[in-house]
Amino acid sequence: MAKTKYIMHQCAYCRRETKMEFIGGQPSEDINAEVIKVWYRCGKCKHSALLTLTPASQMKKKRAVAINRELCTPYAKEKIFSVGENIYHSEWDDVGKVVRKDKMSNGIHSIVVTFEKTGERKLLENIQA
Ligand SMILES: [Zn+2]
Repeated sequence: MAKTKYIMHQCAYCRRETKMEFIGGQPSEDINAEVIKVWYRCGKCKHSALLTLTPASQMKKKRAVAINRELCTPYAKEKIFSVGENIYHSEWDDVGKVVRKDKMSNGIHSIVVTFEKTGERKLLENIQA
């Protein structure tokens, strides 16, 4: 690899946030790797340090599986939900988190849910049968 890679990192030796130069190991090429171990050299004190990095793709994957289906409230339009609550939508077989609540001008309550598969959806809540 011809291009030199730099990252900003706090050096363990001079204890300053410095531009560290990549000198060895595998940089973030393998998107399936749990963590990446790489050698970086401090631009200030020239000490080398083995850093353990988490690839951005891995962090994204971890966020996506954060919802435990067992702990989700099954969605029904008669129920009332709170922001941050995890819900399960049986029709779509999908789980999501309530990110916002709205009340429309006609008095109908709604929630905005970010679903893992379906994405952001608006659902009704507190509907009296
Ligand atoms: Zn240093």
